[in-house]
Amino acid sequence: MAEKIRQFLISHFLGSRLQLKFVLVFIILAAVPVFILGITAIYLIDLSHRRDVSGLEMSLIDQEVGQIKKFLADTLGIIELRVGFTQKSEIELSQQQFLLGGLLEENRAFEEVSFISLEGLETAKIIRGGGEVELQNVSQLPKFKTAKDGKNFIGEIGHTLVGPILTLAAPVVNRNGDIIQILSAEVNLRQIVTFTETQKLGLSGYLILTDNHGVMIAPRRIGRGRSGNDLSAWSRVKQILEGKILNALNVRDRYESFFNFQPVIGAGRRVPEIDWAVLAEWPVQDADSVVQDIRNQVTNITLFGVLAVFLLAPFFASRLLKPIRLLKEGAEAVENGKWDTKVEIATDDELQELGEAFNKMTVGLKRLQELKNEFVFIAAHELRTPVTAIKGYLSMIREGSAGELNDKTKEYLEPVWQSNERLGKLVDDILEIARSEAGKLKVEVKPENIVDIIQAALLQIKPVADKKKISLQYSPQTDLPRVLTDTGKLTEIVLNLISNAIKYNHDGGWIKIYYKVEPQFVMTHIEDNGFGMSVEDQKHVFEKFFRAESGATKTVQGTGLGLFITHELVEKMGGKISFKSTEGQGTTFSFGLPIA
Ligand code: ADP
Repeated sequence: MAEKIRQFLISHFLGSRLQLKFVLVFIILAAVPVFILGITAIYLIDLSHRRDVSGLEMSLIDQEVGQIKKFLADTLGIIELRVGFTQKSEIELSQQQFLLGGLLEENRAFEEVSFISLEGLETAKIIRGGGEVELQNVSQLPKFKTAKDGKNFIGEIGHTLVGPILTLAAPVVNRNGDIIQILSAEVNLRQIVTFTETQKLGLSGYLILTDNHGVMIAPRRIGRGRSGNDLSAWSRVKQILEGKILNALNVRDRYESFFNFQPVIGAGRRVPEIDWAVLAEWPVQDADSVVQDIRNQVTNITLFGVLAVFLLAPFFASRLLKPIRLLKEGAEAVENGKWDTKVEIATDDELQELGEAFNKMTVGLKRLQELKNEFVFIAAHELRTPVTAIKGYLSMIREGSAGELNDKTKEYLEPVWQSNERLGKLVDDILEIARSEAGKLKVEVKPENIVDIIQAALLQIKPVADKKKISLQYSPQTDLPRVLTDTGKLTEIVLNLISNAIKYNHDGGWIKIYYKVEPQFVMTHIEDNGFGMSVEDQKHVFEKFFRAESGATKTVQGTGLGLFITHELVEKMGGKISFKSTEGQGTTFSFGLPIA
């Protein structure tokens, strides 16, 4: 699978394996850090945001706690009465009435005020709005006991129709510091309720205040919650009442609100001394809205960065690879015999040096090639003289110029004659190749009638075909256009192709020679029903010294140079050559020469 993806990338986008490697390195070196940076940035933004949210919630809660403490201190301050006289007797009754009236008038929060004697009997009492009052014995109530001990009393909250009411009591002290009476007040917490209700976190965050039993004091209503509701069963309230500080940093501080079922971030703590609970809840959507924008931006920038790396990596990789590509192309050109190839690399680094070394190497190779050609040329040329001499003398001996030959001598002379012929052909072929490689292979084309030339060649080769009882089926065509060709070379080509069709054929086979006229070429097809070639062998047919090693072909003698030379000659004349072959069925060679 991974290999398939690699191949797909290489063939469709990148063009080379090294480029793919470069691209991967770029991506690892650039995209991965960008990606990690992005993730880290988002993580840090989240972390700092969580701290901010926590900080905001906790400071709002602290403000609320401060406000409550101030309210209680102020209110207690009002009822901590100090009288000017030194005797221990109670304040006069009329005076008590007057003082209580004044307190009620001045403080909107007081719903009821009363004086209590040191025996625990209420001596005077006024209720807001007037009305009958019943003086009671409160000697058993904690407010009396606490105040009589000289301490201020903050009592339980009564959740009434007019709102939460708090009982406060304080001793009345004379100038000597003696407690002479107790002043008690029922205080309406309206002010705290209103204050709590007006506190806001962002757009929609809110505060909740409960008393020390977990009964809701403020706000008057929020979602399905109402003041007076007992929230003590709710675990968050329970934890706060137990003294825990919930700081909005924990995973569990993000939950679905009990009041409005929205996901919220919550915090909370207790009011010291009186143990009320203050909770803050901030809907996540609102709290996270600012950071969400930043997070989106960071995500976009990160993705953009990664994308840019992905897009730019192939470009830079391709630039880096250019010199290597040039070197590869140069090497391929040299392989194809273009010895003058030069690569131009101007990178001002080791690659440029490599390019220069490559250019020096090709100059050296060219020189070597020239030396080799020279050597082959001279060697073949020198070989030709003795071969020709041997041929001449053998010919004379065979003809009987040196006396009558007996049958045994004739029989022994035949392979000598054949071998010398083969040697002669080999020397000629090698000379031709050396000429071709040295660029000295000369062809002189002029308009010719191809039919005449081919007919002459056929006459020449017919005896060889007859020997193997191979029929040469030729369909001459009189209306063919003249072609540009070199008569001698064309004869060589035809003899090569037909002699192959005979050599690689069974006794009694056939060879068909026919023409086809194309817009620019006259095509000559030489078809045989011989051995054919395997698909693998077909790839190398025009290579120098190639000979198929398979099956019946192996037994046929040859040099592997004929088709190489044929190919060179056809191309030199501006023509083209190709073939089709099926193993065991036969082969068709086709060459085209340009119409004159
Ligand atoms: P040679 O015939 O001297 O071996 P060639 O260059 O003429 O060299 O041919 C190269 C190889 O191509 C041959 O050895 C043979 O295997 C194959 N070949 C050429 N012509 C034919 C043909 N007509 N049918 C089958 N094989 C062929």
